[in-house]
Amino acid sequence: MSLLKAPINTPVWIDITRCKACDICVSACPAGVLSMRQEPSSTLGAIIDIIALDSCIGCGECELHCPDFAIHVADKKSDAISFAKLTPESKQRAEAIRDNNYRLPTNYEK
Ligand code: SF4
Ligand code: SF4
Repeated sequence: MSLLKAPINTPVWIDITRCKACDICVSACPAGVLSMRQEPSSTLGAIIDIIALDSCIGCGECELHCPDFAIHVADKKSDAISFAKLTPESKQRAEAIRDNNYRLPTNYEK
């Protein structure tokens, strides 16, 4: 288990050294906060990225499903974070990412 310290005022954060690019957290995120991005140095050629930090609803699904303890979500009580509400725009972005092999489409504008 990572002992990564929680950054201040951040709803979700990643220990990139643990990510093996399995796409699971992206698949689980209902708000389109996460996306894979190209990373030539990664074994699978991709790595996790946070693309819409302000849309995180704090559901914890990413942390719950990551098999490598690479992603962490702030504690609603102790970290005093105000999470977003799930909006139609967030849901739409999540769907677009899932439909594009877990990557934000390059021409995505919403
Ligand atoms: S679930 Fe974990 S290991 Fe898989 S892509 Fe997400 S952060 Fe990386
Ligand atoms: S806590 Fe929920 S909304 Fe936030 S990044 Fe993880 S899965 Fe997405």
